[in-house]
Amino acid sequence: MVSELIEKVRSISGKNIYSCYQCGMCSASCPMAPFMDILPHQVIRLLQLGNPDVVNVKSIWVCVSCMTCTDRCPRKVDPGTIFEAIRLITLRKGIDRIKYRELKDLHKAPSMALIAVSRKMTG
Ligand code: SF4
Ligand code: SF4
Repeated sequence: MVSELIEKVRSISGKNIYSCYQCGMCSASCPMAPFMDILPHQVIRLLQLGNPDVVNVKSIWVCVSCMTCTDRCPRKVDPGTIFEAIRLITLRKGIDRIKYRELKDLHKAPSMALIAVSRKMTG
């Protein structure tokens, strides 16, 4: 239920999505924007509109939590923290976004990167 999702996001993040006035500053400053399916300010808009598809947006998992958007947002909406909240809500449902058994050449990856992706994408 979308209103439940919005309330959970508010409860976990402590942020008010309705303060966003769609200036686009977060998207303009996000280093991961070129790799996202929709831009951070558009994700916030989907949430505001109560669109249930927001939980399936890939951008939420592409976000690297650099928090540049947090610094730039003039309304303190903070998309990075909101994305973290949506990831947490998804992981709590037991939905992992990475399948380790399907990954190849794991030994070539820096261990810090493996730990970081594990923390972010698995429950
Ligand atoms: S925290 Fe995420 S959404 Fe915000 S600027 Fe960094 S990568 Fe982009
Ligand atoms: S910078 Fe803040 S107010 Fe502007 S679009 Fe992004 S979340 Fe909304």
